[in-house]
Amino acid sequence: RTRQSAAPWSSDSSGSSGSWEPLYRVVLLGDSGVGKTSLVNLFAGVQERDLLEQHGEASYERTLSVDGEETTLLVMDTWEPEHCRRSQCLQVGNAYVIVYSITDRGSFESASELRIQLRRARQAEDIPIILVGNKTDLVRCREVSVEEGRACAVVFDCKFIETSAALQHNVAELFEGVVRQIRLRRRARPL
Ligand code: GDP
Repeated sequence: RTRQSAAPWSSDSSGSSGSWEPLYRVVLLGDSGVGKTSLVNLFAGVQERDLLEQHGEASYERTLSVDGEETTLLVMDTWEPEHCRRSQCLQVGNAYVIVYSITDRGSFESASELRIQLRRARQAEDIPIILVGNKTDLVRCREVSVEEGRACAVVFDCKFIETSAALQHNVAELFEGVVRQIRLRRRARPL
């Protein structure tokens, strides 16, 4: 069984032959400090000691079994919005996770901006996007309500979930949701 990396220029990278297992690139976007690295590390199962050796951007590949079927995700921990504007990260993703912190309204506003940029960069494509409100454990510091998050997701036509990387709450569900969103589109539009 061979695997082929999904072409960044192709929105439908799944192929139809079933002879190879596709690799889907998932890009995390969001302000600094919202918890992107923490979420990716939980996805990757990275230990504390590994983190010490980790510098800058990182990406992790893992095969998830969701609903009895395996899908491999390459999750990319990026990049600040400033950097993102200049780089390819709005082009290379097969799916996007836009993260804000529920304790930081500014990061919620950045999430909306990122969504708009993404739509502009990938106009004709129907890419899965998940809006994530992280740090739900910090109940008393909450600045963005669940309802606001949900309403924003409706306006921007994307999925929504709240997580706590600190409590490992809803993190597995987040990445399973990404897989399901990718599959929905793959099935709706076979090659
Ligand atoms: P990034 O800059 O978006 O990659 O954010 P990091 O993953 O580096 O997290 C920034 C800070 O927020 C770190 O101190 C994390 O420990 C902390 N953090 C991340 N997620 C959570 C969370 O769900 N709850 C709490 N309380 N802290 C978090």
